[in-house]
Amino acid sequence: MNDIQMLMGGAPRGASNGATFERRNPLDQSVATRAPAATPDDARAAVDAAAKAFPAWAAMGPGERRALLMKAAQALEAKGDAFAATMAAETGASGLWAGFNVHLAAGMLLEAASITTQISGEVIPSNVPGNLALAVRQPAGVVLGIAPWNAPIILAVRAIATPLACGNTVVLKGSEISPATHGLIIEALQEAGFPAGVVNFVTNAPADAGAVVEAMVAHPAVRRVNFTGSTRVGKIIAQTCAKHLKQAVLELGGKAPFLVLDDADIDAAVAAAAFGAFANSGQICMSTERIVVDVAVADEFVAKLSAKAQSLPLGDPRQGPVVLGSVVDMTTVAHCNALIDDALAKGATLVCGGKATNTLMPATLLDHVTSEMLIYREESFAPVKAIVRVKGVEQAIAVANDNEFGLASAVFGRDTARAWQVASRIEAGICHINGPTVHDEAQMPFGGMKGSGYGRFGGKAGIEAFTELRWITMQTAPRHYPF
Ligand code: NAD
Repeated sequence: MNDIQMLMGGAPRGASNGATFERRNPLDQSVATRAPAATPDDARAAVDAAAKAFPAWAAMGPGERRALLMKAAQALEAKGDAFAATMAAETGASGLWAGFNVHLAAGMLLEAASITTQISGEVIPSNVPGNLALAVRQPAGVVLGIAPWNAPIILAVRAIATPLACGNTVVLKGSEISPATHGLIIEALQEAGFPAGVVNFVTNAPADAGAVVEAMVAHPAVRRVNFTGSTRVGKIIAQTCAKHLKQAVLELGGKAPFLVLDDADIDAAVAAAAFGAFANSGQICMSTERIVVDVAVADEFVAKLSAKAQSLPLGDPRQGPVVLGSVVDMTTVAHCNALIDDALAKGATLVCGGKATNTLMPATLLDHVTSEMLIYREESFAPVKAIVRVKGVEQAIAVANDNEFGLASAVFGRDTARAWQVASRIEAGICHINGPTVHDEAQMPFGGMKGSGYGRFGGKAGIEAFTELRWITMQTAPRHYPF
C-alpha cells in the first residue's frame, strides 16, 4: 500500500486537518493508496509556496532550467518498475502502458529542456521615429495543472513540463484515482533538485475536487490553468476560469473516428485500428472510438480486425504481461454493458467480445452501428468499439464529423492525395493519414476542437500557452508630441 504526502515549498505535507482518502484496486478492492485530502486552505498554501518561488525561478537562466529538466527525465526513467507496480495497483493498467507512459513522459521533459533556449520574441517596426518595439515572452506566474488517471505519467508531466521550462512555477493537482502514480512524478522532480516551491503537489478527496480547484483558480498568483479530463468537468473548469478571468488550456474527451476508405491497405488499417482501439483497454482520449469503413472493404476489414482483437491477451497486470489489463472501475463496465444492450436492441451485430462481469473487459466490436445507437455518440472509454459502414468518401466524412468531439482522427487510403483532402475536412485537432488515432509526441501541437476543448500543449504552441506576450518599447531618439 502506498502512503503518500503532498508537497508544498519543498516540504512533504499531509492535510492540515489530517484527513486522508483511499484509492482501491479495481480488481480486488485492496487499498492501493492512502493520500492526503487537502482542504481549500491547503490548496491555497500550495499556490502561496509556488508564488514565493516564482521570482527566482523566472529569473534563472535557461541553461540551469534545462539541466534540471534533463535530470528529471533521467529520474523519471529510473522509476520505471515503481511506476508499473503503482499503475497496476491504482488503475489496473498493463505494464506495456506504464512503460509507454514513462518513455513518452521522459521525452516530454527532454523536449521541455530543449525549449528553454527557444522562447524567443520579435522586433516589430514602429512608426514612431527612434522607437525600438519588441514583443517579449515572459513567464506568466503560477500555473495550475490538473491531470487525470488514464495516462497518468504523460498527462501530469505534460501539465507541468512546458510551464516549468517557460519559467513558471507549478502546482500539480493529482487525480483521486492515481495519487501515488502522480506522487512518483513529484518524487522524480524532487530528486532532480528543483528549488523548493517550484513544483508543488496537491491531492484531494473526490468530493472536495470542486472546492479545492476553485480555491486555486481564484488565487491571484495563478495566471494559467491547464486541465485534462472529461468534457463534463472541463466545462465546469472553463466556467470557474471565466469567473476569475484565468486563461486555460482544456484537453477533454474524444470520440475519435477512424476512416477506412475503399482503397485502404487493409492489413495496415487493421494493425492501426487494433492498436488505437485497444491500447490501455481503450482508455485514452485519442482511442479509436468510431470505425467508419467503406462497404467495399468492410467484410474483409471486420473479419481481420475481429481475429486480431480476439488474439489480444487479457488479464490482471499484476500477474504478468497483458495487452488488455483491468479497466478503471465497475462504472465503466456497467456503462459499456448498457451501450452493448442498446446497440444490439437497435440492430447492431456483436462481432467479438461482449458484456463483462468484472473489470477485465474483452476487446469488443459492434458492427452495423447507426446514429440512433448510444455507442455511436458516447465515449465508451473502454475496449468496446463501434463500426459504421458507409458508401463513399462524402458519407465517410459526414459520419466522422457527426460528432460532439474533435480531438484525434485517422484516414486510411492508398490514394494519399484523396486521403489528404479527407483529412483536411475532418473537424478534429489531430488527423493521421495511414496511422493510428493514438499518436503523441512532445513537440507536436496537441489539442482538440468542439467538445474536445481548446488550446494546445506541445512544442511552440506550449510556449504560447504558458508565457505572457508583452509589448515593450524603448525610445532612442527625441520624440515629437502634439502639445
Ligand atoms: P474527470 O473529468 O472525471 O476528472 C479529471 C479531474 O477533474 C480530476 O483531477 C478531478 O479531481 C477533477 N474534478 C472532478 N470534478 C471536479 C469539479 N467539480 N471541479 C473541478 N475539478 C473537478 O476525468 P477522468 O475520468 O479522470 O478522465 C477521463 C476523461 O479525460 C475522458 O473523458 C478522456 O477522454 C479525457 N482525457 C482527455 C485527454 C486529452 O488530452 N484531451 C487526455 C486524457 C483523458
